[in-house]
Amino acid sequence: MWHRDEPPVAPKTRPPTRSFAGRGTFWLGLLLGGGLTAAAFALPYVNWRSAAAPVDERPLMIRHDAKGDGHFQVPRSGHRHHRGIDLAATLNSPVRAIRSGRVVLVGVHQGFGRFIELEHRGSLRSLYAHLNEVSVDVGAHVRQGQIIGRVGKTGNARSPLIIPHLHLEVLKNGEPIDPTLLGLTVQERAGSSAYAKGHEQDAQDSEDASGGE
Ligand SMILES: [Zn+2]
Repeated sequence: MWHRDEPPVAPKTRPPTRSFAGRGTFWLGLLLGGGLTAAAFALPYVNWRSAAAPVDERPLMIRHDAKGDGHFQVPRSGHRHHRGIDLAATLNSPVRAIRSGRVVLVGVHQGFGRFIELEHRGSLRSLYAHLNEVSVDVGAHVRQGQIIGRVGKTGNARSPLIIPHLHLEVLKNGEPIDPTLLGLTVQERAGSSAYAKGHEQDAQDSEDASGGE
C-alpha cells in the first residue's frame, strides 16, 4: 500500500508569535483582573460625576446682593481676590460634599465663620464656609453628595445686606482654582456683571482683612 510509505503528518506546531500572544493575553487578563478587583474595593469612594452640587438650589446661582458678587477672583479688601464662588442658598438648607473624600478641618474662622475642609483624590481640597451647622467630624470619610452641614451667615457673611450663601473654595495643590472647572454649572442673574461692577466698592467695604468671604 503506497500510502504507508508516506511520512506521518507532523502535528501542527504553533508559530512562536502565537505562543507569545498567548502569554501576553494571560498577563493582560491578570492586569485587568487586578484592576477590576482594586476598583471593586474602591467602589464606595469612586466619583461617578466630576462634582456634585454643594447646595440644593437649581439652577446654582452666583450670589449678587447689595454688598457684592460671588464670582471667582473678584476683588476683595486688602488687595485680595475672592478665592472661591458664593452660591445663593436658603438658610439652613443642606450643604453637600462635591466629591467623596475625608474631613480634614472643621472650625470657626473670623472670615469664613463655621467651615469644613475636605481632602479628595488628585491633590484636591474643597472648603465650605459661613455654615450654621456642621454634621461631620474630622477624619470622617464622606461620599459625594453627602450632607456635611447647613447653610448659614456666619463669619463675614453676617450683614443683613448679604444674602444667605455658601462660600465654596476648591484648592488644587493648595492653590485656589475656579470650582466651575470641576463641572459645576452656575447661572447668574441677567445683567449682573454691570451690577457687580457698580457695587465693587461696596463688596470691598463689606469685608474685613481676615480673608473669609
Ligand atoms: Zn465667598
